[in-house]
Amino acid sequence: MTDFAATKSMFHLPEGMIYLDGNSLGPLPISANDRVSNMLRDEWGDMLITGWNKAGWMAKPMGLGDRIGKLIGAEPGHVTTGDTLSIKVYQAVAAALALRPERKVVLSDNGNFPTDLYMVTGLLKSMGSDYELRVVDPEAVQDALTDEVAVMMLTEVDYRTGRKHDMRALTQAAHACGAITVWDLAHSAGAFPVDLAGCEADFAVGCTYKYLNGGPGAPAFIYVAPRHAEAAQPALSGWLGHEAPFAFDLDYRPGQGVERMRVGTPPIIQMTALEAAMDVWDTVDLNDLRAKSIELCEAFISGVEARCPDLVLASPRDPQQRGSQVSFHFQEGYAAMQALISRGVIGDFRAPDIMRFGFTPLYIDEADVAAAVEILAEIMENRLWDRPEFKVRAAVT
Ligand SMILES: *Cc1c(COP(=O)(O)O)cnc(C)c1O
Repeated sequence: MTDFAATKSMFHLPEGMIYLDGNSLGPLPISANDRVSNMLRDEWGDMLITGWNKAGWMAKPMGLGDRIGKLIGAEPGHVTTGDTLSIKVYQAVAAALALRPERKVVLSDNGNFPTDLYMVTGLLKSMGSDYELRVVDPEAVQDALTDEVAVMMLTEVDYRTGRKHDMRALTQAAHACGAITVWDLAHSAGAFPVDLAGCEADFAVGCTYKYLNGGPGAPAFIYVAPRHAEAAQPALSGWLGHEAPFAFDLDYRPGQGVERMRVGTPPIIQMTALEAAMDVWDTVDLNDLRAKSIELCEAFISGVEARCPDLVLASPRDPQQRGSQVSFHFQEGYAAMQALISRGVIGDFRAPDIMRFGFTPLYIDEADVAAAVEILAEIMENRLWDRPEFKVRAAVT
């Protein structure tokens, strides 16, 4: 059994705060303080350029890829890290499209995070007018899989409601009609077990600053299934994805397998912080994590529904169809969230009316859930949200 009291003690959690926003930005792993300062002093400071070899900086993108790969059911050697998730979405979809040159449609759903759709729009624009991004309701994806579809690009868990797609069934359906799949695991990696290899997913991407706790600006990851590893063409053909970057050839030749999805110089300071976060994950069994996450979410839903009749559940009621977050509709959700934050309960708000709460067993326990319900109930019962200062919108919500 995973010792969640032990994992909780590995994070810096500010006094008096209940942090239900690890689905947006995970908290600081305490060991990252020393890891990063030592790296700055001993590696950047003392080794300077020799750190690329001596401190193993150049191996970090693939090393981290393998550690993340264990959490998402990837085969070793088929995940690499770097860049941002938006960039990785672009790379994955571009490579997937090139595997189905005779088809012109990318299928996605309107529960997807906008940047995924924006990146594909930009990509398709550069490819010519016969390409199309087709966006349907999440429930309609399966029926929209026709022989026009080159790529099915879906985010497994809806960032607003927590609704979870059936990766296995949809991947099978996509393959049955000849499409390639790109799965975005932004709200999956570190939220519950993912089985990329078992589901026969083709490409997957995700970020490491949400459930994985790599810190703001932590690198993204990309998975390419072994069967596509040597066929996938990198659209962003940067020098570190070259077969021999230090030959400085003028011609581009893709590197081995997923290494060709590397682009430029990796962010070593961020990667060092992410390594500290991955040390925590080494102590976690993902099945324990899922069981605990469901318990916490269920306790929150039943507490809120019992005490706050004005809040309407926006997430699926069946835990199997949810990720690791719970959302409620409330007309004055923005103000109510500001009131909650002023009392130390940190969730977030997503337009138009969604109050969103992430549950992360690594550092949230039953007592936190009970305390959060109590504070939320007090705010709702006494309309404490109904104050002008809670209605002023900040730049980041
Ligand atoms: C968080 C998130 C992103 C963010 O992309 P960045 O490039 O890291 O800013 C993209 N897609 C999804 C589905 C997300 O949840």
